[in-house]
Amino acid sequence: MTDTYPQALAQSLHKNQISRRQALWLMGASTAATVGLQGCAQSPVTGERIVVGMSEAQERAVDAEVAPHQFSQDLGPVQDRAVNDYVSGVGQRLQGLSHRPQMPYSYRVLNANYVNAYTFPGGAMGVTRGILADLQDESELAALLGHEIGHVNARHAAQRQGQSMLAQVAVLGLNIAAGDSQWGGLVGLGSQVGASALLAGYSREHEREADALGQQYLVKAGYPASGMTRLHSLLVSEQKEQPGLLETMFSSHPMSSERLETARRAADTTYAASARAPAQRERFMDHTASLRRIKPTIADCQQGELAMATKTYPAAQAAFASAIKRTPQDYAANFRMAQCLQAQNQAQQARRYAEAAQAIYPQEAQAHKLSGVLALSLRDPGAAFAHLDRFDRQLPGDPGVTFLKGVALEGSGQRPQAAAQYRRFLQMGASGQAAQYANSRLQAWGALR
Ligand SMILES: [Zn+2]
Repeated sequence: MTDTYPQALAQSLHKNQISRRQALWLMGASTAATVGLQGCAQSPVTGERIVVGMSEAQERAVDAEVAPHQFSQDLGPVQDRAVNDYVSGVGQRLQGLSHRPQMPYSYRVLNANYVNAYTFPGGAMGVTRGILADLQDESELAALLGHEIGHVNARHAAQRQGQSMLAQVAVLGLNIAAGDSQWGGLVGLGSQVGASALLAGYSREHEREADALGQQYLVKAGYPASGMTRLHSLLVSEQKEQPGLLETMFSSHPMSSERLETARRAADTTYAASARAPAQRERFMDHTASLRRIKPTIADCQQGELAMATKTYPAAQAAFASAIKRTPQDYAANFRMAQCLQAQNQAQQARRYAEAAQAIYPQEAQAHKLSGVLALSLRDPGAAFAHLDRFDRQLPGDPGVTFLKGVALEGSGQRPQAAAQYRRFLQMGASGQAAQYANSRLQAWGALR
């Protein structure tokens, strides 16, 4: 069996390009298409036949298309280049020892505070600063990356069906409190269609396989197999202490004491010889010192985010204020404060923090979007357009931003330009209320083609 899918899509995938529209087609694929997309392949790891929903070209395409949006949702790579380089170096050592060394692996430490690490099917990986600041040595980091590399090598995302991965392009909206005016409603709509892939969870079987592969790569790279054991102990104990914080980690990689025991057994038996290998604690501590210095700031942000999740805004605001007091130039703290104020309908103050975040880290796109959304809700469409356009240039392909650019242009009375954005938005395969609105404007203006 081979993969079958429409010719045009096949061609773009072959060129390693996939338009958002094609991605949406893939995502929204009907049951029939779902069946059509499936094929058999040989597991790169075991050599056994596996059913996959994505070709290797598609795996690469998903990375190229969707990963940048997800990394930005997690507030982009930390600005400390040395930390990113260090983590990349560890990853690169492992990837070369894996079963699919040809994949386009890449690594970054994200500004996100929650405890997580994830990979896209082609190997684009993100490790949050929340988890990195908790690790104790390089072998634990290698275990974490090895586990993710394990998912890539066993083609778990492809096995889980290409569609379900892409289907999640649904959007961590900005959770804007839409006002009672139509304007407010529009702002809310656009924020909800922002593109981002939520990585769906893996099965227990896949987690076990990724653990086993990760431990194998870890040892091959010259680390003690106990790195995996310590990583699991850390996560299991954190889950007990602060379950909310690890929710995402556990939903995309369900943890269990069973996995911990399995890792321990393998370290004691199969990999017993690795026990004396250096865990590289000092090297790890040296290279991640800048993160550990702001650990209290990260902890404040984590508390703030937990409070936000339960809509306990005053507590969240206090936590973010504390984080900013500790580290005034922290992008994540300023950004979250803006979101927290926005959730309390304090757009004016929120805008100050969003613009502060923007000034701290202009290369990261989210603060531009948030500033744009806030400017829109403050009836400042000109400024809104400038912010949104900046986002669009840094991170093209976000349907929500395209829609909001239309709204901002419409608000400034620039109808033809607004129509162009609405048309672009609809061409992205948009549906739902925002699409209905865009359609109705185009119709009213006689601008439908
Ligand atoms: Zn996993």
